[in-house]
Amino acid sequence: MNDILSEALSPKAYKSHIKPIWCPGCGDYAVLSAITKTLSFLRLAPEKTAIISGIGCSSRLPAYTDVYGFHGVHGRALPVATGLKVARPDLTVLAVGGDGDGFSIGGNHFLHACRRNVDFVYIAMDNEVYGMTKGQASPTTPATWEHSKLTPHGTQIRPFQPCAIALAAGATFIARGYSGDPGNLVKMLVEAIEYPGFAFVQVLSQCITFCPEQKQWKHQVREFDLPEPCSDPVQAAMLLHGDDGLSTGVIYASPRPLWPPEQQVQQEGSLTSMTEGFVL
Ligand code: SF4
Ligand code: MG
Repeated sequence: MNDILSEALSPKAYKSHIKPIWCPGCGDYAVLSAITKTLSFLRLAPEKTAIISGIGCSSRLPAYTDVYGFHGVHGRALPVATGLKVARPDLTVLAVGGDGDGFSIGGNHFLHACRRNVDFVYIAMDNEVYGMTKGQASPTTPATWEHSKLTPHGTQIRPFQPCAIALAAGATFIARGYSGDPGNLVKMLVEAIEYPGFAFVQVLSQCITFCPEQKQWKHQVREFDLPEPCSDPVQAAMLLHGDDGLSTGVIYASPRPLWPPEQQVQQEGSLTSMTEGFVL
C-alpha cells in the first residue's frame, strides 16, 4: 500500500506545470480535478502513485499530473497497469482513458482485467465518441446519434454497456460517476482506491465539441436509489439492465481474492467507513 503522507499536499501539488489542451468545457477537466482532490484527501505520496493511460483526449491526463505516469499505446493502459501493480504492489496505480481506447481496441484487456482482479483502479471517461480523431462513433455511441459524417443515419448498433459488461466479466467494484458532479466523483474515487481489488469507475464526461447535446446530462443524470452498493451480482445486473446509463453511484462492491494471490489483503471496515470525515 502507498505511503501515507503525515501532512496532506494540496490538490494543486499533484498537478504538473503542463496546461491541458482539452477544449474549454470538456468534462475531462473535472475528472482531472477530482483525481487530484482524491490523491490529496488520501494523502498519497506522489512518488508512490502512478497514472497509466492509452491514447485519446482523456488519455493525456497523466501529463497533467505530478505523479508518475505512462502515456502508452492505444487500448493498452490496462495490461501496463496490471504489470506495474504486480511488479510494484507498494504503488497506488490508476489507469485512465476514454471509451474508444478502453472498450474498442482495449475491449479485450477490459474483460480480462475485470476477471483477473489485480488491485488497481480503472477510470473510463466516457463521452460516447472518439473526440481526438474528430468525432467518430465509439462503442458507447447511442445507436441513433447522427452527428458524424461517417454515420449520418446513426450507427444502428446497440451501444456497449460498460458497467454491465464489467459485472459479467467478474469485476467486483463497479461505479458510475459524472464529470458534472465532482463532489460525488471524488467520494467514489476514494472508495475505488481504498477498495481491495480491481475497481472500475465509468465517468460520464461530456465532449462539448462533438456531442454538445451532452450538456443536457446535467438535467438527466441522477443517483441510483441505493442505500449501499449491491453485494449480490444478480441484484446489480437487474439494476444495470433496468437503467438508461445515466444513473450514478457505486453500484456493486463484493470483494473476492486478488491476483496474484500473494497480494491478497484482508478488507477492513466498510465502504462507508472509508469516506468518513470526507470534506470537499
Ligand atoms: Fe474534450 Fe471532446 Fe475536446 Fe476531446 S474533442 S478535448 S473529448 S471536448
Ligand atoms: Mg471518447
